[in-house]
Amino acid sequence: MSLHVHKYGGTSVGTAEKIKGVAKKLVQEKKSTQHDLVVVVSAMSGETNRMTELAKQMQRSPSAKQMDVLLSTGEQVTIALLCMALEELGQEATSYTGGQVKIVTDDAHGKARIEEIQTTSIQADLDNNRIVVVAGFQGVTASGAITTLGRGGSDTTAVALAAALKADECRIYTDVDGVYTTDPRVEPKARRLDRITFEEMLEMASLGSKILQIRSVEFAGKYNVPLRVLSTFVEGEGTLITYEDDEMEKALISGIAFNRDEAKVTLAGVPDMPGVASAILKPISDANIEIDMIVQNIAEDKTTDFTFTVHRNDYEKTMQILQNICAELGAKNVDGDNKIVKVSIVGVGMRSHAGIASQMFTALADEGINIRMISTSEIKISVVVDEKYLELAVRTLHESFGLSGE
Ligand code: ADP
Ligand code: ASP
Ligand code: MG
Repeated sequence: MSLHVHKYGGTSVGTAEKIKGVAKKLVQEKKSTQHDLVVVVSAMSGETNRMTELAKQMQRSPSAKQMDVLLSTGEQVTIALLCMALEELGQEATSYTGGQVKIVTDDAHGKARIEEIQTTSIQADLDNNRIVVVAGFQGVTASGAITTLGRGGSDTTAVALAAALKADECRIYTDVDGVYTTDPRVEPKARRLDRITFEEMLEMASLGSKILQIRSVEFAGKYNVPLRVLSTFVEGEGTLITYEDDEMEKALISGIAFNRDEAKVTLAGVPDMPGVASAILKPISDANIEIDMIVQNIAEDKTTDFTFTVHRNDYEKTMQILQNICAELGAKNVDGDNKIVKVSIVGVGMRSHAGIASQMFTALADEGINIRMISTSEIKISVVVDEKYLELAVRTLHESFGLSGE
């Protein structure tokens, strides 16, 4: 018997009617294909945010541990409601929280990593022709504490279950009918891709495309899980995430990703000598702040300007730390900007083509968009620009690299 894992995101289960719609779709699918079905669901749309707001009313910065106890309830609501809807249609179903499955994670609350999944009881349910409904986004530590996997984590639950159960396919159902050349909410001319490589999808996800959680793509690549993104609401083939092969479109650039959650800080006029970069970055990483891009310029007077980007939520804290070490390092001053964004072009085609960067920079310059920082790797080029240029930059690059549909 073949096994499919489906995942339905928040908007797909956002109302009672939508949950009933998903139940109907699952029953039809089971009848027509005879597949065994394991279904991972998210919290109803808006719930995770609503609870996060509630928590902030209790405490300025609630512990990650209590946040996990709170947020995991969102998905628990959906598994129960979906099982009820399935039973109402005459389909037997079993609901599981992450802890009940046993999806064992490490104890990094709020961003836990899955270590092991016990599949025995799920397998027994499937053998009894039941549909298994699992709460996404959550797990349990070896000592029994509830954990969550980070925002968008239900994608990772689905892929990890598919890997553990050796499913024939993992299908991520959402509110768009596949992975597009860029977020269709920003560029309405964006085009759905039939296929995209794991490598490109991983870059797109880590550069800000929220369509799939990064770790779900990592997992799928590592365990060779056939992964597809499709719409809950319209029929179609969606987008297959797969290994590079000859059938791939021969595009130079596959997509454009962007990240609005960025801020940049500069420590200006730092003496240019060994150990300075680590002296600047050590207190930042000690404060658990993740650094993204780093640029260091040498000025003529043997001092350097050291600039890096962090998540916008960490901006104030980062500025504070730099103010504290500024005098100690003999730097001139600290400067920052939290109204910047990162826009990236991604494509495996870049590997074999020169001139992509200059095409990108020319297209942006023609629109009067100033580039503040640049970083490149084998299959991506990222630029930091002022926030007000985000839409213009995405659309300009989309056009310049010929990504629009006809
Ligand atoms: P879900 O609640 O189903 O997990 P998400 O909101 O997490 O859904 O992800 C779907 C959204 O991702 C889409 O509505 C779309 O706006 C956004 N998105 C960002 N980049 C892309 C892209 N390249 N292709 C398709 N959708 C994208
Ligand atoms: N409910 C969680 C979130 O909103 C997990 C998910 O939807 O994937 O991030
Ligand atoms: Mg999501």
